[in-house]
Amino acid sequence: MTVLSLIEYFFDNLFPSHCLMCNKTVKHQPKLCTDCLSYFAKLPFPTNGVNFLLKPNISRLFKEIYFESLFAVSWYQEPSSHWLSQLKFCNKIHYRHVLIQIIQAQLMVAVKNNNWLWPDMIIIMPLHLRRYKMRGFNQVDQVWRKALLSIPGFDSALIKNDVLKRKKYTKAQTNLSAKQRQKNLTSAFSIHADVKNKTIVIIDDVITTGATVNEVSLCFKHAGAKQVWVWATCITPLDK
Ligand SMILES: [Zn+2]
Repeated sequence: MTVLSLIEYFFDNLFPSHCLMCNKTVKHQPKLCTDCLSYFAKLPFPTNGVNFLLKPNISRLFKEIYFESLFAVSWYQEPSSHWLSQLKFCNKIHYRHVLIQIIQAQLMVAVKNNNWLWPDMIIIMPLHLRRYKMRGFNQVDQVWRKALLSIPGFDSALIKNDVLKRKKYTKAQTNLSAKQRQKNLTSAFSIHADVKNKTIVIIDDVITTGATVNEVSLCFKHAGAKQVWVWATCITPLDK
């Protein structure tokens, strides 16, 4: 039993589980009841596909876009912003269950769309080793890997570990301006695989200015990737 599953086991047994939105009792770990999951404000897909860059209210959030497609679950606002920050900054790992649940729900809608395609490689945004050691887990990996593995027919071999590495220990992006974010990321990543002519998916938890995913997209493009698609849990609205 891993440390994470041991902690989870104690949480399950010490605290009764309630829906995080309506407080109704739910089985096992804290997450949403069926009703709240269907009412939860997921981002509506564009009428002509599954690429959120086709939505002007989303594409206008980015000054520059070096990736071809964007998939996301919700706006970075309550309650998902609360769940994400509890997981990421407060080490409350049980919040991963609700995040897995909403990602899974949005993915299920997407894969049923005729325009949905799987890439050649899926890269979960890595943490620098120092940050990984401090946090003890990669919060993006914790939720996305399990959500993807729950999708019927998903090929787990698509998820590639150790292809993208963080060379530089960067400051947390949260309190930086757009310009500072870009500077903070210069030469922060390296690629360790043959990605020529491949379609790559990069997964991150929150997209704000797009600086990180743009930087990583450029790295993949310079290494010969054909296309880069970005999947994210949340997108920060302009007025945030
Ligand atoms: Zn509920």
